[in-house]
Amino acid sequence: MENVHKRFGQNHVLNGVSLEIERGQVVAIIGRSGSGKSTLLRCLNGLEKIDSGSIRVCETELNGLASKDLLRLRQRVGIVFQGYNLFPHLTVKRNVTLALTNIKKMSLAEANAIASKVLQQVGMAEKLEAYPEMLSGGQQQRVAIARSLAMMPELILFDEVTSALDPELTGEVLRTMENLAREGMTMTLVTHEMAFAKKVADVLVFMHAGKVWEIGSPKELFAHPKTEELNRFINSEI
Ligand code: ATP
Ligand code: MG
Repeated sequence: MENVHKRFGQNHVLNGVSLEIERGQVVAIIGRSGSGKSTLLRCLNGLEKIDSGSIRVCETELNGLASKDLLRLRQRVGIVFQGYNLFPHLTVKRNVTLALTNIKKMSLAEANAIASKVLQQVGMAEKLEAYPEMLSGGQQQRVAIARSLAMMPELILFDEVTSALDPELTGEVLRTMENLAREGMTMTLVTHEMAFAKKVADVLVFMHAGKVWEIGSPKELFAHPKTEELNRFINSEI
């Protein structure tokens, strides 16, 4: 992202954001409510149009993409939200295969093979035939992650995927994400889990007032915040 600006009316939500994410990196974004974290993620996979600046993802410039190409790009950049948004009337397996058969035009057999693989990756292989309502929140969130993985994205964005979960269910989802990171998945996540960010992220980004206020290794930023804003944020989160 280069000098990205995004306004909602008078609200200047991204105020000149520049950020580079390398292949294989885990980037964690932290910051106060309203600082523009979700908007940044949504811009990254083209869900939100920017006012100025430039975003390049996997060699593709997002600005001015035709909607057909934008759809193609979204297949390469997965996004998982706080609410898992599974289809309640479909089995776990069908939730995962739906986009494969309908968007990627795979055969059901091919799609099922991928579903088995990605559901195993997130520890949900036993629940192929279950319906979402039969699963815990943590299990549903892991299915949502599997659904995203099934599309073989080059980058996955996670927006506070554990915020809606009870504390005892948070760990299993964080472990799933940690495993993905270890397997080399390129990920960018917005999180309030400071311990997780410290442990798993290669790069920590502190957003404030629509800007990348501080950026660096998590250990460095937590131990030696350069600004009063980050210092205050860290103390309020602990
Ligand atoms: P939180 O930690 O609460 O999720 P955030 O850092 O993710 O906050 P954003 O959701 O990016 O913050 O929102 C940043 C600002 O942009 C907020 O003031 C919000 O009200 C505004 N905003 C976000 N989306 C829209 C929209 N679709 N229309 C109008 N304003 C919006
Ligand atoms: Mg948000």
